[in-house]
Amino acid sequence: MACVKANGYGHGLLTIASALQDQVEGLAVAFLDEALTLREAGIQAPILVLEGPHAPAEVTAAAASKITLMICDEQQLEWLQQREEKDRPACWLKVDSGLYRLGLSAARAKAVFAKLCALLPHRETPVLCTHFARADEPEDPGTREQLARFDEATRELDSEHSCANSAAVISHPYSHRNWVRPGYMLYGGSPHRGKTAQELGLRAVMDFTASVLSVRDVPAGGRVGYGGRWVASEPSRVATVGVGYGDGYPRHMKDGTPVLIDGIRCPLAGRVSMDLITVDVSHHKSVQIGSSATLWGDALSLDEIAAGADTIGYELLASMPARTPRQRR
Ligand SMILES: *Cc1c(COP(=O)(O)O)cnc(C)c1O
Repeated sequence: MACVKANGYGHGLLTIASALQDQVEGLAVAFLDEALTLREAGIQAPILVLEGPHAPAEVTAAAASKITLMICDEQQLEWLQQREEKDRPACWLKVDSGLYRLGLSAARAKAVFAKLCALLPHRETPVLCTHFARADEPEDPGTREQLARFDEATRELDSEHSCANSAAVISHPYSHRNWVRPGYMLYGGSPHRGKTAQELGLRAVMDFTASVLSVRDVPAGGRVGYGGRWVASEPSRVATVGVGYGDGYPRHMKDGTPVLIDGIRCPLAGRVSMDLITVDVSHHKSVQIGSSATLWGDALSLDEIAAGADTIGYELLASMPARTPRQRR
């Protein structure tokens, strides 16, 4: 079950869904509108809505478009109960094993599973799910403890299981069960605290690129960009690149963050603007108008760039604005 929420982790929902739909058993999104967008675009693969319905009307809408809902709460079960049978979609059931965010308490799992099965008489048994808090820390005992709690809560229930996100796919094979739910790793990010994507054999799907629009000399003492944050300590050469926070390159990137210009790492020099950044290319003499700049991608690790900006690659991907043009390789 491939996770394509947050606009396909920033890559473009439909681009990713159409690339993946024949290679996976289903697609997972966070909320119903994302699922409806996929259906309207003609995607026919099974679709799971991870948060389940936000309101009663979403139950009917899901049934009409053959979308599967994750039941995470007894309130959602009630909404399902209030519908006629033809307006009830297929459902999965989520158990809270210790993330304390969504899902039924372990104590209620069996009773709610029985009710749900009774509501969906002609359909498949709900797949039982849980979600981990710290699977990206392989040494932490929390993942095994959560799985033990899940198993205890669902013992004797005859159904398939789905527990593993990317981090658990990589680091906790005993949690794989029937359905894994990878997201981040599909796009080439590392879901492991101690290992790079390259070490895990993952390749970046996105190359975030722009081009050099201008190159100029800056005298010693010249201050580059808004607020004059970067000061040339010696006579320097600065390239202006056509990308900024309006395109998904965060404003809080620090001076020194690497930008690959024609394949060579050059340091960001000055504050990120809405549409532009400035990069110190003093030691890269061949840079000219039209030179290519890579902000992250297969040759410049997204995880590394994210760590330098005190965030995670997930956030950088999920923050990619819709306006940024996507080109399929
Ligand atoms: C987003 C999500 C996933 C995928 O997580 P990754 O860390 O991106 O692999 C799996 N399960 C649930 C419930 C999610 O919300």
